[in-house]
Amino acid sequence: MKLSVVIPVYNERENLPLLSKALHEALAECRYEWEAVLVDDGSTDGSAEVLRELAKEDPAHIRVVFLRRNFGQTAAIAAGIDYSQGDVVVLMDADLQNDPRDIPMLIAKLEEGYDVVSGWRKDRKDAFFTRVLPSHMANALISWVTGVHLHDYGCTLKAYRREVLEGFRLYGEMHRFIPAYAAAVGARITELPVRHHPRKFGKSKYGLMRTLKVLLDLFTVKFLLSYFHKPIYLFGGVGLALILPSTLLLIFLIIRRIFWSVALFTSPLFQLSLMFIILGFQSLLMGLIAELLVRTYHEAQGKPTYTVREVLNPPSGEA
Ligand code: UDP
Ligand code: MG
Repeated sequence: MKLSVVIPVYNERENLPLLSKALHEALAECRYEWEAVLVDDGSTDGSAEVLRELAKEDPAHIRVVFLRRNFGQTAAIAAGIDYSQGDVVVLMDADLQNDPRDIPMLIAKLEEGYDVVSGWRKDRKDAFFTRVLPSHMANALISWVTGVHLHDYGCTLKAYRREVLEGFRLYGEMHRFIPAYAAAVGARITELPVRHHPRKFGKSKYGLMRTLKVLLDLFTVKFLLSYFHKPIYLFGGVGLALILPSTLLLIFLIIRRIFWSVALFTSPLFQLSLMFIILGFQSLLMGLIAELLVRTYHEAQGKPTYTVREVLNPPSGEA
């Protein structure tokens, strides 16, 4: 078994030497062979030079990937995963707010038969009103919407089996939703409280704005999780919800016109019902286009619509 620790780095110059030291200490006793993949996300503070130094000191454990500009934490994480080789992937921040000493504990939990072990900053050391409180609310909302109940989606420190990271790409702020995606392909998920430290050097790259982005991402995630395979159920559902009542209304208006001679145009109801019927058909048709897209996705990439955990006595001796 091999462990990869994937760490996005953006302007963390002072933290990096301490991070490397903490990693080496924490993983010295680890039974796994390990590598750390540090991804420089276009730092401008000299982090790159420090990373070069670290890679030179310990080429056996430290791999560094330099991105051409700042792409954001999620993209940096995605790059790190792509350049890692471990069977187990642990994600963490470079700023020492996460503690590498928690990694062995996460892995031990993973070995109990889980596919994702989510870190939970039970005693979080960030500003309450701008960070901790919005995060609590976001976690409650994400848990409710995705049906995967975790206390701390935002904590980067989590351990994953490689299989659950394959098969989807990360966009926007979406690294935090990996557990929800993983659950959708049938991963076993649990969480463990982890340590959290205040930031000593450098500053946080985020504020309240991120909570908004996370909320918007949640729409996409919910859509992908619930309707990716059957978009017509969503578009068609909205379409029918518009068409059926409007059609009844239209019939009523026409009957009223014929038998009671009430002109169709006396109220805006006539235009409204026509508009909703048209919108409804639009939505249905968009659903059909979405269905075509899904088929292209699955068939062009040869992607099955299911995920297999294990096969006993597989055909032709494959594992
Ligand atoms: N980070 C990154 N690219 C960015 C912003 C942040 O790679 O554009 C890294 C950053 O260096 C750190 C991690 O993402 O390792 C988390 O960032 P930060 O500590 O600012 O977030 P917070 O802990 O305040 O949520
Ligand atoms: Mg931080």
